Amino acid sequence: MDMDKLVSLCKRRGFLFQSSEIYGGLNGFWDYGPLGVELKRNVKEAWWRDMVTGHDELSQLPGAPSAYDMTGLDCTIIMHPQVWKCSGHYDLFHDFMVDCTSTKKRYRYDQIYAVTLSVKPNHSTNPEISKQQPFTEVWTTLASTPDEQKADLWKRAGGKYSVRSKNADEAFEMVDVKKLPDLVKAGTALTAVVAPDANVPGTLTAPREFNLMFKTIVGALGGEDDAAFLRPETAQGIFVNFKNVVDSSRVKVPFGIAQVGKSFRNEITPRNFTFRSREFEQMEIEFFCKPDTSQQWYKYWRDRRYQWYLDLGLPRERLQLREHHAEELSHYSIGTADIEYAFPFLPAGEFGELEGVAHRGDFDLRSHMEGKLDPNSKPDLKVELGPDGKPKHRGSGKDLSYFDDQARQRFVPHVIEPSAGADRATLAFLCEAYHEDTAPDENGKPQERVVLKLHPRLAPIKAAVLPLVKKDGMPEAAQKIYRALKKQFNVYYDDGGAVGRRYRRQDEIGTPYCITVDGQTLTDGTVTVRDRDSLKQWRIKAEECPAEIAKRINGE
Ligand code: ATP
Repeated sequence: MDMDKLVSLCKRRGFLFQSSEIYGGLNGFWDYGPLGVELKRNVKEAWWRDMVTGHDELSQLPGAPSAYDMTGLDCTIIMHPQVWKCSGHYDLFHDFMVDCTSTKKRYRYDQIYAVTLSVKPNHSTNPEISKQQPFTEVWTTLASTPDEQKADLWKRAGGKYSVRSKNADEAFEMVDVKKLPDLVKAGTALTAVVAPDANVPGTLTAPREFNLMFKTIVGALGGEDDAAFLRPETAQGIFVNFKNVVDSSRVKVPFGIAQVGKSFRNEITPRNFTFRSREFEQMEIEFFCKPDTSQQWYKYWRDRRYQWYLDLGLPRERLQLREHHAEELSHYSIGTADIEYAFPFLPAGEFGELEGVAHRGDFDLRSHMEGKLDPNSKPDLKVELGPDGKPKHRGSGKDLSYFDDQARQRFVPHVIEPSAGADRATLAFLCEAYHEDTAPDENGKPQERVVLKLHPRLAPIKAAVLPLVKKDGMPEAAQKIYRALKKQFNVYYDDGGAVGRRYRRQDEIGTPYCITVDGQTLTDGTVTVRDRDSLKQWRIKAEECPAEIAKRINGE
């Protein structure tokens, strides 16, 4: 799929606009247009319905260790600064950036790929480079190669490929494409690395640290003491309200708290349309369980969340569940899996993260409570001490443990966190939906069309009501159907132009059903329903339209 075509459709039909476009836009910020707001809202509502309000707490779902409760929260974006100290974001939520002195481009350190070369042993006639060597050495060997040829040789390819030097027998194979930190860890000096788009090695500056949280000032006086941060994730609002939810509602462990809302990260390199933005929305669940069942709950949520994307139309061959290796895991995490989609803007074979499902142990609740708890009287609730011997990042001092009154047991619950991005999910559904094919026009002649094959639950407009012509009472009959449908669904009325053109306009924005009022409607009260994907048409009674659309959207 050509990403440029999707981006232009999104602008042309009102899904997505660059933020502040008339002033030249602001990098990393996007506005959702009239159709985009409906699509994203449907993604969030499907998530909330499937995970929270539609959840049946009386039944044990397949794969779940037991029945469980689900509830929701809506917390503020700006929170007490101490929240971010205790969560670790103040000290640890940073990226490293490197600058290229040649191209003047800036990169996130862990996202630039350095190219390593080695020589194909069988092809080499030069004894100096007859075995696999680090590319620094190969570079030296190539010192006499003309510059333009070097540039070619070093061009990033995003994968393996072969290059042949002018000297016929020496075939060089690009054997490895590694991330920069791995190379640096392996002892390769930055002077040996060729930056993307640079022609010679050694143009990268040393990595510099950069905190990703947006800083702001609360109150009129605005000193450094009044500094606050825009939340970089919604999760912390849930942790700090854990006790409030337990005390104010009847939920019992195991239970989950869900939240959907804006998060902000001052990303170094926002890119790939909305995939990496500086302002975005998250859909997060913190699921609290007993430590001894946490592994089972982790597996349950990982598989449940993967299935959710499949159910809404992402195909298995472009959706992967990737368990992190031990060295990728955060220090507190027992297991993390990413749900990843093969976004079309990524090189073939690469996947981008849609959602992370993490087993966070009791790290978060402990971090928010430790500090004032007496480490001597509660040996299981240890205080982490700083170099000065004082408790590091003093927590709230509130006891965030949980008392299980059936088992007569007190413990700090373990947490499973499925953390999804609403914008990334929306983008994945859009990418997957985009198709070009042909559909017959009103005379049966095949016409090219662009069609968004969005799942009916996600489609911004559920049905379009179209009078065949603007006379003979057809508009009146169509408007009656439109008003009946409008009570339940977002529907559209269109009486302008040839009906084939009107169908194609709806196909392009993903409307799953078109209802057409024609001459027969006026005699027998039936209308045609046209299916966007199969192009099948069938007749139903006009008054059955709301029930028909409801049945089809919900897949009954
Ligand atoms: P990445 O490695 O891509 O930066 P992350 O691992 O930092 O992502 P998390 O902190 O786990 O992401 O956030 C959970 C989810 O929030 C991600 O899976 C993603 O869907 C979404 N998300 C995170 N950062 C962004 C962003 N800059 N723009 C859009 N969505 C984001």
